[in-house]
Amino acid sequence: MRKTFINLNQLTEIIKKYPTPFHLYDEKGIRENARRLKQAFSWNKGFKEYFAVKATPNPTILKILQEEGCGVDCSSYTELRMSEAAGFKNEDIMFTSNATPKEDFILAQKLEAVINLDDITHIEFLEKTAGIPETISCRFNPGGNFVINNAIMDTPQEAKYGFTRSQLSEGFKTLVNKGVKHLGLHAFLASNTVTNEYYPVLARMLFETAVELNKETGAHIAFINLSGGIGIPYHPEQQPADIYHIGQEVKKAFEEILIPAGMDDIAIFTELGRFMLGPYGCLVSTAIHQKNTHKEYIGLDACAANLMRPAMYGAYHHISVMGKENEPCDHQYDITGGLCENNDKFAIDRMLPKIDIGDLIVIHDTGAHGYAMGYNYNGKLRSAEILLKEDGETELIRRAETPADYFATLDCNKAFIEKLKYS
Ligand SMILES: *Cc1c(COP(=O)(O)O)cnc(C)c1O
Repeated sequence: MRKTFINLNQLTEIIKKYPTPFHLYDEKGIRENARRLKQAFSWNKGFKEYFAVKATPNPTILKILQEEGCGVDCSSYTELRMSEAAGFKNEDIMFTSNATPKEDFILAQKLEAVINLDDITHIEFLEKTAGIPETISCRFNPGGNFVINNAIMDTPQEAKYGFTRSQLSEGFKTLVNKGVKHLGLHAFLASNTVTNEYYPVLARMLFETAVELNKETGAHIAFINLSGGIGIPYHPEQQPADIYHIGQEVKKAFEEILIPAGMDDIAIFTELGRFMLGPYGCLVSTAIHQKNTHKEYIGLDACAANLMRPAMYGAYHHISVMGKENEPCDHQYDITGGLCENNDKFAIDRMLPKIDIGDLIVIHDTGAHGYAMGYNYNGKLRSAEILLKEDGETELIRRAETPADYFATLDCNKAFIEKLKYS
């Protein structure tokens, strides 16, 4: 049975201090994985990972990644503010947004972040709102289907993001005319891919496009951003992506396409989120109810407001009943949260060891797009986030929401707030 990074003894200690539910992160795992990525691309002089802040927007996590040499990829005003306060600046910040409000561009420009434009019309929009910087990037959407080995990985033609190929040529020319010195090229064409071929196929396409754009427009292309999309094995039958192999395959493409074109100074960037954090976080909860009707249900103190992926995408997350890892999985359960929504199920018809009320239930691989996608439906409150440090100690890195947080934005209604105080 697949285990997570925490065991029952450690958790028993942790819950004396912090009540469930909470998200727990594994500092050691995060650091070791970040080092593997860095090593895999160490052949490229300018390589940099810009962690996708939206995956796990917590300043302590950002700081750990910064210590491992990462920058941040932001997509909104608040992500920029968080990154600035966490100590990132200038070329350590990538700003990859879409349908961007002008305040966001103004802040990105003030921080001297690298702006990655989503659309050709944003050139003029940016020029009017914040001015055009010397270094800028454009996001490519080639349309059609994105195919690897005859399998459709995703459908860029349906995606709202990016410039078409002809818009890239026009956009690069316009930007060079407006005084841009260094250009970047970006694309994100498939999400959560555990195949080792995604980055190499994407890299080849972007490298070839970069060579063409350089010939057509004379633009100096300084970096190519492979963005996010490397997946993690949520299911025990899946294999993790082999990051060293991926690095070597991208290197091959670099040597075959960019070096002969004299473009060997190009830096490779990534904007991984899930791959950086996913496996190094889990959602810790307690079984608080058991109900037997037409099916057997276990009700947790966590719900989809703490982890939306199963409800939203039908995503699989592995579940451990702590302390029973070696017991036979001879009970079939639906594991549910308490939202008034029937899709609030962390697992459906899952075979697990017999669960007793009070058992600690750990939902695996929630380190990315977990807490971050939380919401307040049904008046449910967001949980705490806790860091398991390398020395085995724990640190509260975000407290749980309280009812007062939930009511805070109603402070425009003075009469209501007064009643709330006295009830
Ligand atoms: C979401 C996102 C990422 C990260 O995606 P993962 O699947 O978590 O790797 C990177 N770049 C952009 C622009 C994104 O929107």
